[in-house]
Amino acid sequence: MKAPASLGLTLGLIALFYACSISPYRATNRVYKKQARAFGKSISRYPLADSFATRFVGTTNFSMRRPSLVVLHHTAQNSTAQTISTFTTPRTAVSSHYVVGRDGQVVHMLNDYLRGHHAGASSWGGATDLNSSSLGIEIDNNGSEPFSEAQISAVIELLGYLKKAFGIQRKHFVGHADIAPGRKVDPSRYFPWQRLAEAGYGLWYDTTAIEVPAGFDALMGLRLIGYDISKPRAAIQSYKIHYVPQDTTLQLGPADHKIIYSLMKQSL
Ligand SMILES: [Zn+2]
Repeated sequence: MKAPASLGLTLGLIALFYACSISPYRATNRVYKKQARAFGKSISRYPLADSFATRFVGTTNFSMRRPSLVVLHHTAQNSTAQTISTFTTPRTAVSSHYVVGRDGQVVHMLNDYLRGHHAGASSWGGATDLNSSSLGIEIDNNGSEPFSEAQISAVIELLGYLKKAFGIQRKHFVGHADIAPGRKVDPSRYFPWQRLAEAGYGLWYDTTAIEVPAGFDALMGLRLIGYDISKPRAAIQSYKIHYVPQDTTLQLGPADHKIIYSLMKQSL
């Protein structure tokens, strides 16, 4: 039996609503798939296209390039939905591999082997173009509020997975502020770096038995930890956000010398 037109229309609207509610990102997922497929096609081309060499002989021994650094961010937005919307809008040109919601939900947005657009102009340990070597994790937080317990637990679990999957060293879990001093201040002073370090992600200091040698250059210490010190005050600010969040000054006193010396020893 043929359904009356009004019933057909109603069913159509219900179907449309249902489709939208299960996959509101259907169109952007299609864009993702298309781009990923194009990259896959390009790297599997044989012989290599546009090569400098005149001859190609494929080796039998290779693997995918792996990320070696994890950069943590706060989103400076009010919800995961807002962040997802930003990362699925082409004109923003920004993305991260993971977004961790206030409720602890982890959203994966980009294959870990692909290059996200989260670090921007940045430097760590003298290395640049950190988007090429890092994974980005955006933690949903407006920048002036504490992080929820569910969220931090989820971040710690995610870091555990990534550390194991890619063999990432403890000292290579850093914040956006660490790699972009003067330009970025995330994650904020509310971020529990000490707790993360106790779980094995990122460094922390123990100054109880630290004897700082006479003439110790604390700024050079920051450089050896990884900071870009070309703008000293900016480097000090990033160090304080991460390791001495209660101190908003840009002074490096004897206590800082001890902390920096302790961190430096662990970095070398
Ligand atoms: Zn950031």
